[in-house]
Amino acid sequence: MSAWSFSGSRLFRKCPRQWYLKTIIAEPRSKDPIRREAYLLSKLQTIYSWRGSLVDWVILMRYIPTIKRGQRVVLGDLLKYAREIFNRQLEFGLANRLREPGMKVTETGDAFAAFLDVEYGDDIAKSDIEAAWEDVKIALTNLVSMKDLQAKLESAIQLIPQRSLTFTLDGIKATGQPDLMAFFADQPPLIVDWKVHTYASSDYRLQLALYALALTNCRPHSDFPKEQISYQETEIQLLEVQLLTNELRKYHLASEDFDTVSDYMARSALNMEMTIQGEDGDIAIDDLPVTLNDEECQRCPFRSMCWFRG
Ligand code: SF4
Repeated sequence: MSAWSFSGSRLFRKCPRQWYLKTIIAEPRSKDPIRREAYLLSKLQTIYSWRGSLVDWVILMRYIPTIKRGQRVVLGDLLKYAREIFNRQLEFGLANRLREPGMKVTETGDAFAAFLDVEYGDDIAKSDIEAAWEDVKIALTNLVSMKDLQAKLESAIQLIPQRSLTFTLDGIKATGQPDLMAFFADQPPLIVDWKVHTYASSDYRLQLALYALALTNCRPHSDFPKEQISYQETEIQLLEVQLLTNELRKYHLASEDFDTVSDYMARSALNMEMTIQGEDGDIAIDDLPVTLNDEECQRCPFRSMCWFRG
């Protein structure tokens, strides 16, 4: 089984079959047409999730590099870049270029998008596209207005966005990718998670705690400042940044919180292990348990592999 992750555990809770198709079956370089098809389908997004990815991309490619260079963050520059990417990806996604023969997603650069509705023959309403752009604008405008956060990031000695951290805890190999890690000369590291949602979730606390465990339990990467590796997980600064509602939520976690997280991880990994262990050590897609929530199926990229095969 591939390394356990928080996002994987959340997907498993929604639908074990969807999780299996995405994390076990999907394989970009496979010659097996089922694995290749699962990989292509795994790239599909709703317009709603796409606009969140787009904000993450602009932060990664423009906001963080600007701060790292010690330059002033200019909202107009971020929005101009965001609009260019928005238009390019929208055109790519609406043309369903995912289905071009021999499509290599990694070679499409910042133009790639693949939409669930387009793949399944549904229209994307113009109003949904306009609402997506409005949300991108609101999120970036709020981000630039967060001056205290920006000042804190400017005082960091190292900013590392979107770094995959692999670690082993209680015998479970796991991975996590915080949106941003900031290291300082005189205080514990800060982990930031950008959110582009209008609703809150208690999962965010768990997710940030897992990132703290990942940072304190992984083998330090070569660009981690040396003095930073001695901090305990309870000392890591954790910040959820709600970009649509313009809220910052700091989390202070105690050792009991991390016990809860370790238990969650162990239970989740065991459930996954038990689910995919067929009698001969393997399992057919159709034998995997499914969600009972119809809405989950409507949002699921793997509908064509699941319903038609079932
Ligand atoms: S279509 Fe529904 S049941 Fe099938 S994998 Fe997707 S979410 Fe699960």
